[in-house]
Amino acid sequence: MTTLEIQRDVPLAPLSSLELGGPAKHFVRAKDESTLVDALRWAADQGLRSAIIGGGSNLIVPDLGYDGLVIQMAMDELELGEGGSITAGAGVPWERVVDAAVEREWAGIECLTGIPGSSGATPIQNVGAYGQEVAEVISCVRVLRRDTLAFEDLEAGDCGFGYRDSRFKREPDRFVVTQVGFTLRPNGPGTVRYAELERSIGRDASITVIRSSPAVAT
Ligand SMILES: Cc1cc2nc3c(=O)[nH]c(=O)nc-3n(C[C@H](O)[C@H](O)[C@H](O)COP(=O)(O)OP(=O)(O)OC[C@H]3O[C@@H](n4cnc5c(N)ncnc54)[C@H](O)[C@@H]3O)c2cc1C
Repeated sequence: MTTLEIQRDVPLAPLSSLELGGPAKHFVRAKDESTLVDALRWAADQGLRSAIIGGGSNLIVPDLGYDGLVIQMAMDELELGEGGSITAGAGVPWERVVDAAVEREWAGIECLTGIPGSSGATPIQNVGAYGQEVAEVISCVRVLRRDTLAFEDLEAGDCGFGYRDSRFKREPDRFVVTQVGFTLRPNGPGTVRYAELERSIGRDASITVIRSSPAVAT
């Protein structure tokens, strides 16, 4: 059991891109999986509802705030393995993952630069841009089931991915994503699917050029 640092009346506006809305009555940063489990147990014991947030870039906070426990995902480990494998804790800023991949010329997410938010949120709406989406390179999504508080490692095929959609989005109160595994393609090829992009950089551009082209990067 970790020591839970539950804060009271924490303003949520600074934690969301829209910078609007009221406070969370209770708030905790979950830096690891055991804190997440303890936080959900604490909320259940108190008879409170609970909500998960990542980077707050796709969040609308009501003016009245939230009267339960808001859990901010803050697991920030990033592991790089052999053969283009990356494992990111849910709280790792997504751009850090893109940086790590592009630095190594690992293809698969070079078009997904500049998308705000956390790695743990990317499977929720199957983040995508310029004809690329995370579902193409996700190998594993580690989740906590909110009903049983058991962890499960889901393969991409279990995630029900669709266009800006997933099982996690369709069943919002069922899973918390704690970690995402990606398998990228060392040394490319990169993704140039949009005619606009091909016109500006050519079909065989490197990962670095695709990522920094004005069409993708702005
Ligand atoms: C300027 C701008 C540009 C954008 N461009 C794009 C784009 O090109 N393509 C695209 O696909 N999206 C885009 N988005 C949307 C946004 O970046 C994504 O939805 C992103 O994945 C949200 O991440 P977040 O960590 O900020 O999530 P939040 O805003 O914190 O949360 C969003 C939702 O996901 C849930 N959630 C978050 N983390 C978890 C978790 N670990 N487990 C379970 N549920 C969780 C929350 O409960 C909430 O319902 C853009 C947004 C902005 C503001």
